Amino acid sequence: METTTPTTDPTPVHAYVLGDALYLNLTSACTLACTFCPKIRDGSFTVGGFDLRLSRAPGVEEVWAAALAAGLAGRSEVVFTGFGEPTRRLPVLLELARRLKAAGVARVRVDTDGLASLREGRDVVPELRAAGVDALSVSLNAPDPATYVRLCPNAFGERAFGAACDFIREAARAFPDVAASCVGVPGLSREACEALVHSLGARFRWRPYDRLGRLETTPAAGSPPRAG
Ligand code: SF4
Repeated sequence: METTTPTTDPTPVHAYVLGDALYLNLTSACTLACTFCPKIRDGSFTVGGFDLRLSRAPGVEEVWAAALAAGLAGRSEVVFTGFGEPTRRLPVLLELARRLKAAGVARVRVDTDGLASLREGRDVVPELRAAGVDALSVSLNAPDPATYVRLCPNAFGERAFGAACDFIREAARAFPDVAASCVGVPGLSREACEALVHSLGARFRWRPYDRLGRLETTPAAGSPPRAG
């Protein structure tokens, strides 16, 4: 469980707009420590000019107030993302998803590491779907367990890779739109990643990795910013 120590940042960013989409930032905590992540490499939490570092995990009402202040009308989608894993705040995420759909938001997406079912000890895919989530974007980042733990160290070890694959497979059965992405770090086989993702039933996304070894975080059409 996350701690809720007093905040030191005067204006934490819980909701932010880029293009015609709204992004919700629930946590700075991750299950992975991805070697290519700007947060891990450089201590940078900045996306699109927004500093997404949170010193305290916000509650439902705080994020909901921020979302309403940013405005829901006319949004192409609302996305749970940021430099943290949204499903680590699963009850908050589910309640916000229900509110967003009740408010008429056309598309709610979750960007995730795909490890929620492993962490929670149960299949959470039906819960995400029942709450109204429309789409999932899962960071897989490797075509095999050994590469996964090398690029994305975590407390579960290689078991996490299989769990992420299982999550993608289950999600692809339950959701109309599931993408799985891999960051194009040097030496990673795009073909192997793509073949695996397709075998799991998901859409494949290859994400750029620039020459400085940082994720490209500038939003582009059809390619919303995300950390992991
Ligand atoms: S890439 Fe995503 S999952 Fe990995 S450490 Fe960064 S924010 Fe966390």
